[in-house]
Amino acid sequence: MTEDNRKRGFRTTLSHIGRITKNEHGFVNPPLLRGSTVLVPTVAERLKMSARRGEQVLTYGTGGSSTHWALEDAMAAIEGGTRCYIVSTGLAAITTPLLAWLHAGDHLLMPDHVYGPARSFASGLLRQYGVETTYYPPEVDEAGMAALMRPNTKVVFTESPGSHTFEVQDVPAIARAAHAGGAKVMMDNTWGIHHFQPFTHGVDISIQAATKYPAGHSDVLIGAITVNDPDDWMVLHNAGRALGQYASPDDCWLTLRGIRTLAVRLQAQMESALQIAHWLRQQPEVAQVLHPALPGAPGHELWRRDFTGACSLFGVEFKPSFTPAATHRFVESLALFGIGASWGGYESLAIPTTGFITRTAGTGKFAGPVVRIHIGLEDVDDLIADLRQGLGQMRAFEA
Ligand SMILES: *Cc1c(COP(=O)(O)O)cnc(C)c1O
Repeated sequence: MTEDNRKRGFRTTLSHIGRITKNEHGFVNPPLLRGSTVLVPTVAERLKMSARRGEQVLTYGTGGSSTHWALEDAMAAIEGGTRCYIVSTGLAAITTPLLAWLHAGDHLLMPDHVYGPARSFASGLLRQYGVETTYYPPEVDEAGMAALMRPNTKVVFTESPGSHTFEVQDVPAIARAAHAGGAKVMMDNTWGIHHFQPFTHGVDISIQAATKYPAGHSDVLIGAITVNDPDDWMVLHNAGRALGQYASPDDCWLTLRGIRTLAVRLQAQMESALQIAHWLRQQPEVAQVLHPALPGAPGHELWRRDFTGACSLFGVEFKPSFTPAATHRFVESLALFGIGASWGGYESLAIPTTGFITRTAGTGKFAGPVVRIHIGLEDVDDLIADLRQGLGQMRAFEA
């Protein structure tokens, strides 16, 4: 990311980043380049290319092309880092750096609320390769993290807030303890997208499921891994290439198109989600709304200290008198909210969390059932009317 981008506003940056001016034939947008083999005029030229490892030079399709690099530059700017590696999915953006930095015999610390497939990867493949994982309470403080560190702890993973139960982590405190013990700090920053600047809060490797808000239209799977240090870049780059990690140029191109409107979509969706979260909090069926940007909600103080905004994903805990089945009725009765995983698209979603998440460190216990809500770009009044009738159906089911 250039100094100019650091000084400019988010919307300006998104309008101008990742537009490589040469070879565009005058078009505003970078062309979509597809290809595997790259032909060169001489053998000497080929040898010269191979020596420039980690640079943005065309060598072969898997090394990316200007389509990939445009998106990588844009994502690095969004995250406030220097270099970004684009991979096939958000999950691959988690597994690739874990494989890059962990060796057999190492110890990994993961928050108990971590994204489910990341937990499965740690408990499955990483274990198979001789890496031990401890799941820690996400709300751990610096002393608590220091106590969890072992001599062989090489990575401390964070996800803030947790994407199902929305605990906000004290990332700077966790990072201080991790760095004191010689570990790298990785963060799944999908929720915080741009509103949490990972590298000013002690994170070394930031992960984006760009499938969510950057792509933004529920039609692309893609992941981004950003670093802020040249040595970290080489470790990441070498692992990504060794694993054959690659994203289709079509998906990069679509994501680059998505990020042009990222700032305005995020702003609109954040405002709608906050309005709806406020409304839900006043409903008699609701015990609490798990939205860190809501004053008084869990994690609000840390959110206010470290974030500059929010996305549009939050949770609702219902009063314990409602059964999980009642919340299923609620979700199924909604006309404008789809039942589905993922988020960050233009459309609203609702999905029960209770019964779908694994915890082993004794955290994430709620007295009542929890539903996760994603607010899209629809009109707020329509969404509230839909939620109102859904709550009515839920009450009728329970009575
Ligand atoms: C969706 C998601 C991912 C994975 O992204 P995919 O592109 O679906 O693989 C990772 N982390 C979080 C927090 C997510 O919500």
